[in-house]
Amino acid sequence: LLPKLAGVCGWPIHHSLSPVIHNYWLKESGLSGAYIPFVVRPDEAKRAFQSLKQTSISGVNVTLPLKREAFLAADECTPEAKKLGVANCLYKRDGKLIGHNTDLEGFTRPLLKHFDAKRLAHSSVLLVGAGGAAKAVIGALLSLNVPEIRVVNRTDEKAEKLVESLNLPSVVFTPWSDKQNYVVPSDILVNATSAGMAGYPALDISLTGMNKDSLVYDLIYTPRVTPLLKDAQKQGCKTLGGLEMLIAQARPSFRLFFGETASPDSDPSEVLYSALKSGIR
Ligand code: NDP
Repeated sequence: LLPKLAGVCGWPIHHSLSPVIHNYWLKESGLSGAYIPFVVRPDEAKRAFQSLKQTSISGVNVTLPLKREAFLAADECTPEAKKLGVANCLYKRDGKLIGHNTDLEGFTRPLLKHFDAKRLAHSSVLLVGAGGAAKAVIGALLSLNVPEIRVVNRTDEKAEKLVESLNLPSVVFTPWSDKQNYVVPSDILVNATSAGMAGYPALDISLTGMNKDSLVYDLIYTPRVTPLLKDAQKQGCKTLGGLEMLIAQARPSFRLFFGETASPDSDPSEVLYSALKSGIR
């Protein structure tokens, strides 16, 4: 069998941790193949994606700012990609280029380890952020039938616009100034902002009153334990960091590109952290 080749496209791309994850799984599973970063400038993206079918590359992941272009370049898109209108994964099937989005699965899998589907269907979520990641979070929470999703964002208008575009009774706009009033009645707090990331200020929110039954899910993965997660641990809440989502969103792509599932016991977290420490990112 010929070695399979896959990769990740973006602009810039040097920061991507995807090669670390996929090459770790390739090594662990003994499969013959490679996963490499491709520099693709936005003005070259359409041509690059369309030419994928003429290459021996099995598929590519796509990062910012090319996800919409990937969606548009695909011959067909999966329901997950259609839900978000962007694709973070392009793969080939029966001569066609398929656009897929693995962020929904990436967010959901780790969440289900803490809150089962039955409990989620009776839970309320306070979601901080209104960017691309927040959209994926809302899509995932809606698929899980979460009945109350409050969206707050530093820039109120962005959250308001996002909520209005969905026009669903379960997704509610909450002004930034009012967010503290919804921390305690919420079962889950999700941080889908850049606040708390290395080099950014911490998220301006107090978790006082949250308890062991609440979950704080921070999408950020550098640092591994953000100021928000530290506060949550002090409060005794359950916590989830962004690294688990990052790994979970890579799993379906690995299966699509290399034809095998990475073992659930094969955990690249430590390799990822040494890569981060050694300055790959
Ligand atoms: P976007 O640029 O689309 O959105 C950024 C969001 O962060 C906006 O809502 C913005 O608010 C908010 N924000 C930025 N700085 C602050 C601050 N100081 N205080 C409060 N809010 C702030 O980014 P994404 O949605 O793509 O990503 C958001 C975060 O999620 C990033 O940290 C990213 O690393 C992480 N992420 C993690 C993933 C994973 O797999 N773990 C996957 C995807 C994203 P405003 O509108 O006011 O500017």
